[in-house]
Amino acid sequence: MIVFVVNCGSSSIKYQLINTQGEYVMAKGLVERIGMEGSALHYSPDGAAAIETKVDIPDHKVGIQLIIDALIDKDNGVIHSMDEIDAVGHRVVHGGERFADSAPITPYVIQGIIDCCDIAPLHNPPNLEGIYACQKIMPDTPMVAVFDTAFHQSMPPAAYLYGLPYEEYENYGLRRYGFHGTSHKYVSMRAARLMGEDVTDVRIITCHLGNGASLAAVKYGHSVDTSMGFTPLEGLIMGTRCGEIDPAVVTYLMEKKGVTAEEMDDELNRRSGVLGISGLSSDFRDLEYAAKAGNPRAELAIDMFSYRVRKFIGSYAAAMGGVDAIVFTAGLGENSGFMRKKICQGLKFLGVEIDPVRNEVRGKECEISKEGSRVKVFVVPTNEELVIARDTLRLCRRMRRNK
Ligand code: AMP
Repeated sequence: MIVFVVNCGSSSIKYQLINTQGEYVMAKGLVERIGMEGSALHYSPDGAAAIETKVDIPDHKVGIQLIIDALIDKDNGVIHSMDEIDAVGHRVVHGGERFADSAPITPYVIQGIIDCCDIAPLHNPPNLEGIYACQKIMPDTPMVAVFDTAFHQSMPPAAYLYGLPYEEYENYGLRRYGFHGTSHKYVSMRAARLMGEDVTDVRIITCHLGNGASLAAVKYGHSVDTSMGFTPLEGLIMGTRCGEIDPAVVTYLMEKKGVTAEEMDDELNRRSGVLGISGLSSDFRDLEYAAKAGNPRAELAIDMFSYRVRKFIGSYAAAMGGVDAIVFTAGLGENSGFMRKKICQGLKFLGVEIDPVRNEVRGKECEISKEGSRVKVFVVPTNEELVIARDTLRLCRRMRRNK
């Protein structure tokens, strides 16, 4: 089956064409700067270098059409016609409480995604744009929505409720949802496989450490807690997001500085995190470099980040009554041995011991714990597109059976 995997942001479309037989990427790329000056299509057929086409891309529909044209192009295309695409898998950020699994796209599912726009105003509207664009261009092709929040729907109320009046949950859906679900699901399954265990037999802490960062406690295959909450702002200190703070800080600062809710939101989401602490960069490569050169604020930002990840690891071990494996993934988790070592320092009491030579690995699936470490530690490059393609295949098969 050939699955077109689509991940729409407000001004971008990331895409892959995946042949599920052999799970092989036929082509991938990015449409960027939609509706802006300098918009472009990047297209890499079959592992070859990206071809960049600068072209006016006023909206998502034009972007999707350009991708399809590139996929069927007679010189660089990888399929002969659009009809060879069997299904489309859409990444959708927020599925609220309605979706605990991926879902074939129907009017009911679209309404569910619309209903969540209120709590995911930056993400769900562009996800819908992508769905509408594909439906116009490929009206007869089955489509599936794969939700970032679905994997965390298994959290118990004790983990997902806030200590607010219960009516806030009932009336406004105010609760913790968690994000990066496809990534946490994929890397936990891979780690179990690397341990030679069934995922339903092990307790795994997954650390998705990129510009956005979250941890999940995956107990016997189910997410029982995760660090992001109602929005992706909660939890770890991130590239530009503050993570956990005392909520009273928000009203205090708004009053002191006389700023609006929108300005406060901008500070918490875009001017905080390791960028705000270091005053230098949100990119951990810059921070590692600066810290090694003696910049004290870069060093402080790194210390704060690694300390908070370590604290979450400890709390998730407690939440699961133990831990069998820890997995690092995403840009920082996959590539930075320096940060992995810093995070795991002091976790020997839990049975976590990193092997310094194995820990030098970058971007490759690998065990990095010492021989005999009671808790296994792994690097697993995440592959959200593959999870989307697999779910699309699974649900298309189910739809066919039920016809
Ligand atoms: P992502 O959001 O998953 O693309 O990850 C982006 C983050 O990963 C950025 O903060 C990068 O600095 C960080 N990153 C990527 N490669 C490296 C590396 N080799 N060393 C340290 N950080 C890295």
